Amino acid sequence: MKAKTCRGLALPFHDIHEECGIFGVYNHPEAANLTYLGLYALQHRGQEGAGICSSDGKSLFIEKSIGHVADIFSEKRLKRLPGAIAIGHNRYSTAGGGGLKNVQPLMANYSLGSIAIAHNGNLVNAEQVKTQLESEGAIFQSSSDSEVILHLIARSRNDDPYERIAEALRNVRGAFSLLFLRESEMIAVRDPFGVRPLSIGRVDGAYVIASETCAFDLIGGEHIRDVEPGEMVIINQSGLRSIKALQSTRKAHCIFEFIYFARPDSYIFDHVCVNTTRKELGRQLARESMVDADIVIPVPDSGVPAAIGFAEEAGIPFDFGLIRNHYIGRTFIEPKQNIRHFGVKIKLNPVRDLLQGKRVVVVDDSIVRGTTSKKIVKMIREIGGAKEVHMRICSPPTVSPCFYGIDTPTRHELIASSHKTEEIKKYITADSLAYLGLGGLRKIIPGPENYCTACFDNNYPIMFPKDSLEQLELIFA
Ligand code: AMP
Repeated sequence: MKAKTCRGLALPFHDIHEECGIFGVYNHPEAANLTYLGLYALQHRGQEGAGICSSDGKSLFIEKSIGHVADIFSEKRLKRLPGAIAIGHNRYSTAGGGGLKNVQPLMANYSLGSIAIAHNGNLVNAEQVKTQLESEGAIFQSSSDSEVILHLIARSRNDDPYERIAEALRNVRGAFSLLFLRESEMIAVRDPFGVRPLSIGRVDGAYVIASETCAFDLIGGEHIRDVEPGEMVIINQSGLRSIKALQSTRKAHCIFEFIYFARPDSYIFDHVCVNTTRKELGRQLARESMVDADIVIPVPDSGVPAAIGFAEEAGIPFDFGLIRNHYIGRTFIEPKQNIRHFGVKIKLNPVRDLLQGKRVVVVDDSIVRGTTSKKIVKMIREIGGAKEVHMRICSPPTVSPCFYGIDTPTRHELIASSHKTEEIKKYITADSLAYLGLGGLRKIIPGPENYCTACFDNNYPIMFPKDSLEQLELIFA
């Protein structure tokens, strides 16, 4: 993880940007290749860097770099990852980067041999644990909170390797879907709240584990079940063994996985289809905030299923009125001469033929700072020639930052934390604006009491340390 500056406070360690993808395979002759493909399918969960660690039964091998999966791993590089067991990780892209040292898996040698870790999620007490460990002489190689877990495992005096991991995890709090690789086994653990998804699958008789089931589809695998909250799954030559490692008192799955983060073709949180859920949310949104209009268009890609659902329910024609360029790199060189809407046009461009003179409903998944919506509305009116622009957001107003692994800015940057819907409507210059209600969201999501909705209602299910400066800054900033 990278150093983060929060309102002038240099915070060297803790980083809330931990949206990642993890994948692992046990007992397959092409373990590293399958892991590469799994990471490829999970690329949307992290684009900053990726790594794979494999085992030939005796030693661990690791390859990792900054960049996209397809650019990092060549055939030659995959050949340097021998063995039938492998785990991999995609790291989320943030503006400041984080450097190679933070790209996972992280590997360490300890008294029981070698161990590698791949972590999706965010620990809320990592800073405190790290300070304690450093005061006792520990030296950290990265600024990643996942390294704290490795240190805790290494320091444990327990002879049982699984109890060591469980003991370490009882000392951390937050969101963690984890994969560990040891010389002869793969171990998966999910935090007691089950914040981030983690699924078990099978391919050619081998076990595979992935953040999302779309990774199983690519390799011809099938989804068996999820790793349960608090469960440790040990996969070795004795097969698959499950241990109730951490006590789980309530579930708190991340609602934002359904809203924005997960791929629509995935089934998450006990086999719920992301695409179907998004469509149903779009239908609910239409029931709550119907408007007379000629066309419904999505903000691609994240708004597509919701917009289809909205259009179906409202009986208004659906079309792709905004075209997205999928090939944008990190930076682009702006021309010296001013081009109107250049910044947003590089990513999205309206189809004038569809929008000219029309009353347009634009469906997006969320508003964070409000800048994207503002630019889109302006562009649809000025370039697309729309007569009216009605913004419909398929989630409740985002009022609170996330500490469990979704990249959100400080509270004061979240436009809905300090502005009413009517004020936001004026800011984004839409003819109307409506969000999905929290009640409507809960109506559609199966077992809503099992979800964390802190970003929408400020109810944080996992408490963070009271002395955490960064977290207090983010909440009260
Ligand atoms: P903003 O301009 O800050 O209001 O951003 C809103 C846009 O960001 C929407 O189109 C969302 O699809 C997208 N979005 C929402 N959450 C995230 C996230 N955690 N990471 C990246 N993009 C996001």
